[in-house]
Amino acid sequence: MPELPEVQAHAERLTAAYAGSRLARFQPITFTALKTAVPAPDEAYGYPLREVGRRGKYLLMEFEPVTFVVHLMQGGRLKEDEKQSVKPRGGQARWRFDDGRALLLTEAGTERRAGVWCMPAGAAQTSPPLVNLGPEALAVTADDLAARFVAHPMRLHTFLRNQRCIAGIGRRLANEVCHRAKLSPFAPTAKLGVDGARRVVAAIHETVEEGLAFERSRADMSASADRPGQVHKRTGEPCPVCGDTIREVAYSSYTVSYCPTCQTGGKVLADNTTSRFLK
Ligand SMILES: [Zn+2]
Repeated sequence: MPELPEVQAHAERLTAAYAGSRLARFQPITFTALKTAVPAPDEAYGYPLREVGRRGKYLLMEFEPVTFVVHLMQGGRLKEDEKQSVKPRGGQARWRFDDGRALLLTEAGTERRAGVWCMPAGAAQTSPPLVNLGPEALAVTADDLAARFVAHPMRLHTFLRNQRCIAGIGRRLANEVCHRAKLSPFAPTAKLGVDGARRVVAAIHETVEEGLAFERSRADMSASADRPGQVHKRTGEPCPVCGDTIREVAYSSYTVSYCPTCQTGGKVLADNTTSRFLK
């Protein structure tokens, strides 16, 4: 799934290419693509796109009267629609501009979870789905994070992936942040304190900024296998920091990757919940 660096760099690319273009038509292609009824998307017709912003893992297409909030989920993409065919493959929704260009939201696979929320401008941040998001990962301070650790007692890796706790980090960055912070992915957040929060904030900045630099160097969003990292999807490879072998705990929908020497004092983690048997 695209996380903060991928979504942010993509928002910047879309702003550079489309800001100033006036919306001619918004067309939902599937019944499930548009999640809101009011306001009507046609309230934005004739208005120029101001900017494509970002909050957490959401893209915000901002027009003067309304903001389109777009979530790409796992396999979604928002790209130039060169063909503008009637039934584009994986097509979810299309924005046509009066200069003849169009942006197409597509989603690979059959899950159909990508979506669009059309919100009154100014209300997007205070309405679902954005209102429930935690603070932006790059904006959170160590003191704030320490307070949130206490308020949300859970495993560190689970906390980092929870968008209500902190926004923008997903499965890949959660693995990388724990490794950079030299903390166990299973560390209980309630015991990390301000010192632990400081290490996590520093690790978030290092990993997100590395990801941003990589994404900004590209013409389009990267494939997940190409993204930089030291532990994610590197099970069995040597840790680039200490040379120990990267290990994993696999769940049905994600994998926790870690280095025992760097993160757990050499201890091999075994999942002691029943989650892996619940498929
Ligand atoms: Zn290591």
